[in-house]
Amino acid sequence: MKTVIRGIGQIVSGDLHRPLLDGDTIVCVDGKIGAVGREAEVDTEAADTVIDARGATVVPGLIDSHVHPVFGDFTPRQRAVDFLDSELNGGVTTMISAGEGHLPGRPRDIVGLKALAIVAAKAYQNFRPGGAKVHAGAPILELGMTEADFAEMARAGVRLVGEIGLGSVRTGPDAAPMVRWAKQHGMTVTIHTGGPSIAGSSPIGAETVLEADPHVVGHINGGTTSMSPREIELLVGRTAMALEIVHCGNGRTALHTLRVAGDAGAWPRVILGNDAPSGTGVVPLGILRTLALLTALGECPPELAIAMATGNTARVYGLNGGLISPGREADLVVLDAPVGSVARTALDALRVGDLPGISMVLIDGIPRVGRSRNTPPAARAAEVTRGHAPGGGH
Ligand SMILES: [Zn+2]
Repeated sequence: MKTVIRGIGQIVSGDLHRPLLDGDTIVCVDGKIGAVGREAEVDTEAADTVIDARGATVVPGLIDSHVHPVFGDFTPRQRAVDFLDSELNGGVTTMISAGEGHLPGRPRDIVGLKALAIVAAKAYQNFRPGGAKVHAGAPILELGMTEADFAEMARAGVRLVGEIGLGSVRTGPDAAPMVRWAKQHGMTVTIHTGGPSIAGSSPIGAETVLEADPHVVGHINGGTTSMSPREIELLVGRTAMALEIVHCGNGRTALHTLRVAGDAGAWPRVILGNDAPSGTGVVPLGILRTLALLTALGECPPELAIAMATGNTARVYGLNGGLISPGREADLVVLDAPVGSVARTALDALRVGDLPGISMVLIDGIPRVGRSRNTPPAARAAEVTRGHAPGGGH
């Protein structure tokens, strides 16, 4: 299976250290990126699918580090269906669960919470809404769990721990041993920070995060109520943890985190999440909106903000996507300035605070979405010139 994307105006790599690549062509072979370069210099022979990007920009498929899936493509939180497919139409090809906490009647006993995590991990391995990759099975920790519980879940394929603090484990001393066990068993651990998101969960401040020692400071800018700027500074300066900025949080402390992390040389630790579905809603363009916030108001170069939503997240979660680089999974988004914008390219659109228009999303080298049904229309739209075109929304 060979797919060639030609006529690319700009290639954003997802790598913070080398964010823009030279070239106008990407070749995908058997679901992986094979080559990136000038059309004359790469092997485009015998492609099954050829896409003309018509001068638009290609970025790695965006990774949302904070979703709350339940079962299938339905969320009881906002009584919405197809919210994952909708986010795929916002350029997000990989979604990482921060806990399946919205299941009505979520079991809080240990057998039940393990069962839910295992079912979610296995079910979303088999189910890819629109082709999107959903990494789920993120148990919500409750008091009384032992190392054997983490070992059992790990054996069954659980690789994540959901936001600590949503369950009865909400203090540093309670969380710390469980975080150690989870790490020993290969899980990536995140923690809720700031005020409670909904009645029934607890505020968590920087001291608790330091004691618990997770991999990821979950929604460092609040979900939705933020920690104080001083606490954010403490976690940026005193730890090596990933710093997750979310869309459904506090915009002011999002920008504060960006600034403080920039001053500390910690942008490689910044990752982006949506934190939806949540009380804020289901937000198909949440990651694009966060990119526009960091770029237009935070003055982060757009190609670096994109790396925070792709390569950084892949590194933190050990995923083989997130970068346009040979051998990586060929999850790609073609986007351009939207019709009517003062901007002329996708990156300039972010700079001026507009959302780019997506005209194609590929997963594992296969075109899955044509013109996005959720973004504004791209001024220059990619087109399949050989092979099967995906459906489109517009
Ligand atoms: Zn949270």
